[in-house]
Amino acid sequence: MNNAVKHAIDVLSTGTVPEDAALLSLLSCETSEENQYLQEKADAVRRQTFGNHVYIRGLIECTNYCRNDCYYCGIRRSCKDVTRYRLTPEEILSCCKNGYALGFRTFVLQGGEDPYWNDDRLAALVAAIRNAHPDCAITLSAGERSRESYQRLFDAGADRYLLRHETADKAHYEALHPTALSFENRMECLYHLKDIGYQVGCGFMVGSPGQTAEHILKDLRFLAAFAPHMIGIGPFIPAAGTPFEKEPAGSADLTVRLLSIIRLLLPKALLPATTALGTASQDGRLRGICAGANVIMPNLSPPSVRKNYRLYDNKIATGAESAEGLFQLKTQVENIGYAIVTARGDYPDIQN
Ligand code: SAH
Repeated sequence: MNNAVKHAIDVLSTGTVPEDAALLSLLSCETSEENQYLQEKADAVRRQTFGNHVYIRGLIECTNYCRNDCYYCGIRRSCKDVTRYRLTPEEILSCCKNGYALGFRTFVLQGGEDPYWNDDRLAALVAAIRNAHPDCAITLSAGERSRESYQRLFDAGADRYLLRHETADKAHYEALHPTALSFENRMECLYHLKDIGYQVGCGFMVGSPGQTAEHILKDLRFLAAFAPHMIGIGPFIPAAGTPFEKEPAGSADLTVRLLSIIRLLLPKALLPATTALGTASQDGRLRGICAGANVIMPNLSPPSVRKNYRLYDNKIATGAESAEGLFQLKTQVENIGYAIVTARGDYPDIQN
């Protein structure tokens, strides 16, 4: 085994961030022996805190209206051929009810930045879910909002918030977003969320256009410093009708390797094996679990709208990644030595 790579993995396993050169060697390590070693270490660290448990989150894609125009995203404002939809509060509550019966104890409300969902409406929806399901965690993934808005939603009963930082490099951020969106504001949102008391998730796409190994190092250093409770990473996948439609997809292998690296960096983090990873590689999500991921987010949206929440091309939406496919997913996860559990799956040091 390459000594620099082994050294980097051993340093990471002691909870220390290795120097740049060592991390870089790890990012590019491609031999199966090294990857095997990395994965074993990451799996051991995960088992210390979580055993073989994999938490499930019911993902409800509430709206695909979006005021933003992120260059990578298939539901960006400028994509004219997207059939726009917005679930009603009743539909969302009914998704939660179905999910509850299936065993879900976390609901993730995700959507574009849809002005319809102002603070009054979103806070009322959160309160209604909180009231109907007092034993469940409510996670929001509704983009950038004011500190006051995040506070109101928290007070209404939201527990967690997912807001990927997308990239920790300002110039790269600007290459992925129009000027209306700023790196500083994204970061400020994340700090507000943490300060308010949310369990916070950030994350980035692997292989987004213009991303270099140095950018990924910055992402890893940012994660180590910010110490989020959750980290979502998945390969970039081009979306038709976007400025990046002809760009190559990110690597599933590198994503899997990064899951192990992030597991070692942040042993207690909740780390999903994402839909994008499952789309990029058929067994991607299972490989992600073996590499250190401990969360899966099956789709609880009404089947009729799923094809319209098209962040990227060929997004998987039926089968084991859907809520209806939960039984199939359970079997697949058991076959590789893990167990789907229905607990809320909060960050280990948080008391509820
Ligand atoms: N509007 C919300 C939710 C965004 S969708 C927000 O701003 O947080 C959730 C995530 O999907 C994004 O943060 C982005 O990292 C990812 N995503 C978007 N387009 C993608 C693409 N083409 N390939 C892979 N992931 C993508």
